[in-house]
Amino acid sequence: MEKMFENLMAAAKELGASNVSVIAADKIETDTRFRDMCAANSCGMYGKCWMCPPDVGEINALMAELKTYSHALVYQYIGQLEDSYDFEGMIEARHAMSRLSHTFEKHLSANVPVKYLHLSVGGCGACEVCAKQEDKPCVHPELALASLEAYGVNVSRLAAVSDMKYINGANTVTYFGAVLFTL
Ligand code: SF4
Repeated sequence: MEKMFENLMAAAKELGASNVSVIAADKIETDTRFRDMCAANSCGMYGKCWMCPPDVGEINALMAELKTYSHALVYQYIGQLEDSYDFEGMIEARHAMSRLSHTFEKHLSANVPVKYLHLSVGGCGACEVCAKQEDKPCVHPELALASLEAYGVNVSRLAAVSDMKYINGANTVTYFGAVLFTL
């Protein structure tokens, strides 16, 4: 088990993760309020992606699902910005995190022999436009990723229990992902 985590941590770093940590899954704190942030639709994806609310699933069922896992590999990606108004830089950093997560997902599916759940940033990002927007079934279920917030995860507390900073200084933007395992 230790070897598997060592290999996965190295793989995540090689793909661009700034920090990686393994924690007991019961340290993950959840609250339906974080799902309310999705419903506020500040990202514009509410109801427009199979992996976003409300389609991703009922919040209490998803929070209960998290409790079925024993360990979590938590990773963060720190993007650099030109300044605090660099919105293009923020979007590019989000895309970079999404690319990291989907490449990592391919690595996980090829190398992890146990049940796992991989969560990342919102909006899935595997397809340029989610098939949901054309009322068609998901075209890449093997790559589809839901967000930590969709599962009600308190991401700032996740950072703390993973010994990571939630905010990494001026002119940076930080995104988190987590892979939960049943061992
Ligand atoms: S894989 Fe594509 S179709 Fe499926 S949820 Fe993600 S973006 Fe939507």
